[in-house]
Amino acid sequence: MPHILETSIEYLKGVGPQRAELLRAELGIYTYQDLLEHYPYRYIDRSSYTSISELPYAENHVQVKGWIESIKEIGVGRAKKLMARFRDDSGAIDLIWFQGGNWIKSQLQINVAYQLFGKPKLYGSSWNIPHPELTPLAEVHRHTGFQPLYPSTEKLSAKGLHSRGIEKLVNTLLPQIVGKIEDALPSWIAQQHRLVGKEEALVNTHQPANLQEVERARFRLKFEEMFFLQLELLIRKGKNEKETKGHVFETTGDYFNEFYARYLPFELTNAQKRVIKEIRKDLGSGKHMNRLVQGDVGSGKTLVALLCMLIANGNGFQAALMAPTEILATQHFENIKELLGQMSIGIHLLTGSTKKAERKIIHEELENGTCKLLIGTHALLEDPVQFQNLGLVVIDEQHRFGVAQRAKMRAKNTLAPHILIMTATPIPRTLAMTFYGDLDVSVIDELPPGRKPISTIHRYESHRLALHGFMKKEIDKGRQVYVVYPLIKESERMDFHNLMDGFEAISRYFPMPQYQVSIVHGKLKPEVKEYEMQRFVKGETHIMVATTVIEVGVNVPNASVMVIESAERFGLSQLHQLRGRVGRGAEKSYCILMTGDAISKESKKRMDTMVETQDGFEISEVDLQLRGPGDLMGTQQSGALQFKIANLAKDGQIIQLARNTVHELISKDFTLELAEHQKMKQVLQQFLASKPNWGKIA
Ligand code: ADP
Ligand code: MG
Repeated sequence: MPHILETSIEYLKGVGPQRAELLRAELGIYTYQDLLEHYPYRYIDRSSYTSISELPYAENHVQVKGWIESIKEIGVGRAKKLMARFRDDSGAIDLIWFQGGNWIKSQLQINVAYQLFGKPKLYGSSWNIPHPELTPLAEVHRHTGFQPLYPSTEKLSAKGLHSRGIEKLVNTLLPQIVGKIEDALPSWIAQQHRLVGKEEALVNTHQPANLQEVERARFRLKFEEMFFLQLELLIRKGKNEKETKGHVFETTGDYFNEFYARYLPFELTNAQKRVIKEIRKDLGSGKHMNRLVQGDVGSGKTLVALLCMLIANGNGFQAALMAPTEILATQHFENIKELLGQMSIGIHLLTGSTKKAERKIIHEELENGTCKLLIGTHALLEDPVQFQNLGLVVIDEQHRFGVAQRAKMRAKNTLAPHILIMTATPIPRTLAMTFYGDLDVSVIDELPPGRKPISTIHRYESHRLALHGFMKKEIDKGRQVYVVYPLIKESERMDFHNLMDGFEAISRYFPMPQYQVSIVHGKLKPEVKEYEMQRFVKGETHIMVATTVIEVGVNVPNASVMVIESAERFGLSQLHQLRGRVGRGAEKSYCILMTGDAISKESKKRMDTMVETQDGFEISEVDLQLRGPGDLMGTQQSGALQFKIANLAKDGQIIQLARNTVHELISKDFTLELAEHQKMKQVLQQFLASKPNWGKIA
């Protein structure tokens, strides 16, 4: 017999076919269970009253006890309003209705005690409450505790299913499920974290008597939600480790040793050494490596990647490095070739613009094993590319690579090559635990010595003249300057217009032949783009006006000023990436954030964060708080992050707790065989079935 929670929502008293259809379409509520898991987003304290003299200090809705002293209509026709003077022992306030005045007037009684509920607003210099809810005090009987507010939609509200309407449905449902909700979490876990029972938690999130009940109930539900996610991730990780065999790289090998002894250009930082050690351990273990290396811009990830690839080579395997753009792949190639010095080792670059004849040679050398290191873009994934013995794949800036592409790369050898993912976008721990929960994570949390901090300055549009003066001063000292404009798909034409305008203005202010200005954007032909980039790299032009095509990778040590136009339109991590383009040489560097004169509070906070800190991890935390996980990780993945109650930005500790608990659990019972774990195992299966997106994470 199906469980009562699986009952179609249509059969709940007060729903019926029409509303059921709407609930499904608008909120994805199909069953009783879905309604139970449609949690309130906020609560209003209905247990206490505010006195009128305190109203100006109230931030949200308030509840007041008092009586109506007088009623009057003001204005005529459409502008007619109804006003009432509402008083308690501490003072009085005006209530105001812009519509429906006639009917309301006929309902209101002078000098009768009411309970008022509403939100005070400031009009001019006086406070009033527009469209309050008034209930004669004699009739108040419910809502002695906390009133839940539910998410709803316009269409639902039109059919009476606004927050109050949904609340009524929940109130109808709750008595029917009492005594029928089982706990999926084993009792030892509930005891360990003093979790309230599942049923109690459900009832209390919807009908709490006080704040403490709300908190305990929500804690339990969030914990459970995160617990099952971690259980899924860690079991998947465990299976991968147990079942997928990896190539064993027994030694560091000759290539590594020769490079280390003769060509290593500088002492590795401690963080680089630690991360290489972590990787070495994986590579020697016989298990299949799936490791993410997080390291801020400039932390020296390329060198780490190269050393690992040389280990693969030294053990008789080929290695590939994949970058998201052609420019970046080319830079990696040149950079690595230079690092390798006189070492004799077959290395090739393969991108979309590699010529046919050369491509053919590369394919041959990959198949016969002469090419040991292959660097390139997505072109590496094309089917004709067959390796003799691919042992390691390094993916740079992985957030731009889809999961499917990773799978393709894995399929390039009978035994899956080890995978090392490098990202310069530090992400907060909670996100790493959810997004990359089935990967191992290494962090390069140290920059090479001698880096000078970059002065970051936020300037409003009205200070533009001063900006030009400053650029001139730096250029006259021999430095180069980037000026970056946003170019976003949705507003492409306008953005393009701004970019060209900016370019013209700069060209006028910095006239030829004394000054040379380059421009690079996505609409240029690749050859032109490349040519312009090269002119700037070689120091032939002083200013590079560009869109974010320069965001990742490019390295021009003599460029010491980064000007970001309309900075309020960039996300924090993007700003941080852009800033990382300067501060690479010996000179003092600057990042100047230009914004409109009037920017939102949130934008201001972003600018302030940039000015205050250069720590990528700190910045990513703020980004998470401001934008939420969906935006932070890209829409592609945000669907997989729709949690019912937990919030990645706020519930970091609960996530950690859930993960630790799962570790403890699977160290005892990885296959979930124990009797006390059966219910949990069953719920895990349902959880997986209901989350087709889940596989997309990581
Ligand atoms: P990212 O982590 O952003 O990919 P890179 O690998 O491009 O950083 O390194 C940034 C710069 O730092 C490069 O010029 C590189 O040569 C240099 N670098 C890397 N490791 C060290 C080190 N241990 N000591 C000094 N400089 C280093
Ligand atoms: Mg890099």
